Amino acid sequence: MTRTVYVNGDYLPEDQARVSVFDRGFLMADGVYEVTSVLGGKLVDFDGHMVRLARSLAELDLAAPATPEELLAIHRELLRLNDVTDGMVYLQITRGAPADRDFAFPDPAVTPSTLVLFTQSKPGLADSPLARTGIKVISIEDIRWGRRDIKTVQLLYPSMGKMMAKKAGCDDAWMVEDGHVTEGTSNNAYIVRGKTIVTRHLGNEILAGITRAAVLRFAREAQMQVEERAFTIDEARAADEAFVTSATTFVMPVVEIDGTPVGAGTPGPVARRLREIYLEESRKVAI
Ligand code: PMP
Repeated sequence: MTRTVYVNGDYLPEDQARVSVFDRGFLMADGVYEVTSVLGGKLVDFDGHMVRLARSLAELDLAAPATPEELLAIHRELLRLNDVTDGMVYLQITRGAPADRDFAFPDPAVTPSTLVLFTQSKPGLADSPLARTGIKVISIEDIRWGRRDIKTVQLLYPSMGKMMAKKAGCDDAWMVEDGHVTEGTSNNAYIVRGKTIVTRHLGNEILAGITRAAVLRFAREAQMQVEERAFTIDEARAADEAFVTSATTFVMPVVEIDGTPVGAGTPGPVARRLREIYLEESRKVAI
């Protein structure tokens, strides 16, 4: 079956979908995105993703090409057309395609933004074998720009980080700035010390994960202690547990950091429990 994708109002077979070579997403990474996971044919935390999208757009003075209600309808139509049960919907908005390449922003009245959505099917997404073994991470210097709270398509350094991890025989990288962990290449980072879950406080240095917000809420509801503060790699290596969260990996245990096993070197009880709670609660409220 050929995948159907959405481009600026049209549902098209993927091999017929086109974006201009002058699109500022292509030329300047002038765009933002969201990834919403799909479980049992339903969208997980869709409203949260739309709130963050609106914020990303506003921070970059980028016009929203559609309302959240219209975007929901497009998400659902793509899931139907592509028969997706488990997987994700990717959405990207760029500042459109002006007549010429120019650093100055084009007039939005003349150059409408570009809206693209597509699906990726991942049957059994919630039963990832990796969640049973946990992942290994390395630490790398965080050299990204200073507005990581905006979800831009500027993902070159995170891609390089993943490649550095692969080369080291690991799964992912945690980024470190001024001696403290910011986040993973595509996820938020956590450690567990005793009964306390520690994750970096929000700010311009990290993306405010939609999964992070839900997991911290569930953790507090389950009477777990949560500390939102920066931590070092040394503290992480000495922690009882570590894990990451993101829309597509949910809660994923981290069992090794820079070659040091974390705790027993196997997924810990807090990460396992939070994963269970997150999946159970998310399925309940998915739309
Ligand atoms: N931080 C970064 C840098 C990310 O790319 C992501 C995933 N897009 C996250 C955190 C996690 O965000 P979410 O839980 O909304 O997927």
